[in-house]
Amino acid sequence: MINIAPTHIKKYCVCDHSDKIFESIFNRFDDTNMSINKIKCTCGNDLFNVYTDPNPTVKVICTECLNEIIVYDLIYYPAATKCPQEDDVFEMVTLNLQSELNVYAVYEYGDEYEDENDISWCHVYISTDDDLIEIVNDETS
Ligand SMILES: [Zn+2]
Repeated sequence: MINIAPTHIKKYCVCDHSDKIFESIFNRFDDTNMSINKIKCTCGNDLFNVYTDPNPTVKVICTECLNEIIVYDLIYYPAATKCPQEDDVFEMVTLNLQSELNVYAVYEYGDEYEDENDISWCHVYISTDDDLIEIVNDETS
């Protein structure tokens, strides 16, 4: 994997091999151009309320300090064009009725990416202790 991530998320990205779910995502995606991350707030908490809109955009809010973190938003990536839609409304995502979730993000870079924001694909996962689902699987360009 590569140790870069888009600038809006970089300081929240950790590589935690002691986390079984991180490890399973890592084993699935590990490759030269892949940035594989668990999202952790700067306050140390890793549980979030998760919101998505149809673009798709993903934002998460730390359940401890209420810090808002953008995980995926097409406005940040040079390869993307964000077209506003009428139903651009954020909705909360839950998993097994739980709303406090761990979040993982995988950013893929092309062979000749220009900088850390020049991603070509993004996957976002949410998990509880015993379940994991993909909420975004988006080709950025
Ligand atoms: Zn926090």
